[in-house]
Amino acid sequence: AKTLGKNNFQFYSAELNQIVHEHLMLEASLSRAIREHEMVLDYQPKVDLRTGKVVGAEALVRWRHPVEGMIPPDRFIPVAEETGLIVPLGEWVIDEACGALKAMRALGMDDFVIAVNLSARQLRQRQFAERLGETLRRHGVDPRNLELEVTESQLMEQPEDALGVLGQLKALGVRLSIDDFGTGYSSLSHLQKFPVDYIKIDRSFLGNVGHDGHLVITRAIIALGHNLKLKVVAEGVETREQIAFLRKHNCDQMQGYYFSPALPQDVLQEMVARDQRL
Ligand code: C2E
Ligand code: CA
Ligand code: CA
Ligand code: CA
Repeated sequence: AKTLGKNNFQFYSAELNQIVHEHLMLEASLSRAIREHEMVLDYQPKVDLRTGKVVGAEALVRWRHPVEGMIPPDRFIPVAEETGLIVPLGEWVIDEACGALKAMRALGMDDFVIAVNLSARQLRQRQFAERLGETLRRHGVDPRNLELEVTESQLMEQPEDALGVLGQLKALGVRLSIDDFGTGYSSLSHLQKFPVDYIKIDRSFLGNVGHDGHLVITRAIIALGHNLKLKVVAEGVETREQIAFLRKHNCDQMQGYYFSPALPQDVLQEMVARDQRL
């Protein structure tokens, strides 16, 4: 601290001020945006690596701001989590995804799975599982068509509580996956207890296929998942080399820019209807 002069302090305080300002602006406009339907849900296809078929999609939220243009989730999800706005936002996301599932079912795409991202704060809501059950019934959506992704680090905030809610969600019949796996330091004993169906390998491990250190981890995660009878999904797949590697090591599913970015619902439906494959 004694190396910090007055100027440094001013620099930090100006920067802090700007961060606080942006935060307050975001908070105010975010709650309005949710009410006024500025949020958009896009869907990134998930591909079965054995058949090349699109078997599902991950719903990713975007904010179509009237002045600022498209704002990516990394800029507002953290604010939404801190302020609690993630709860109404998350409810909207689930509602919207259920609407998409209903539309796809009407097109005969009965086995299609849509995954939504959940924050730990949503899981901690009173009667989350019960309310989710009601939402599914209201839309006439089969629970097995909905998948919930929770990051490993959020699960590990309060692993015992998470375990309870995950059990209720599992009983409801939805699919569960641990997102960003490998970055959250869960112990193997926890992993074995969580009643999940999939683990998603964080994209940082696939980053550079020439880089052996990372690939050792990817292989180890695939083997670990399979030993625990889980399906393993790789995210952030961008190259043919990565696909070849994942196929060789029997990874189950992949998503990434190599195949497709997140798409509007109608474009996704067309892709599935055409049976476009990897
Ligand atoms: P995530 O759940 O890990 O989502 C994957 C992110 O990686 C997405 O960014 C996706 O567009 C991006 N991605 C996909 N393929 C590739 C690729 O090949 N290369 C690279 N470099 N990136 C790829 P996006 O859409 O900006 O979302 C960022 C994060 O925001 C998500 O990370 C998730 O944590 C959060 N998020 C998005 N939607 C929601 C939501 O509805 N609820 C909550 N709670 N969080 C959300
Ligand atoms: Ca995710
Ligand atoms: Ca992820
Ligand atoms: Ca992530």
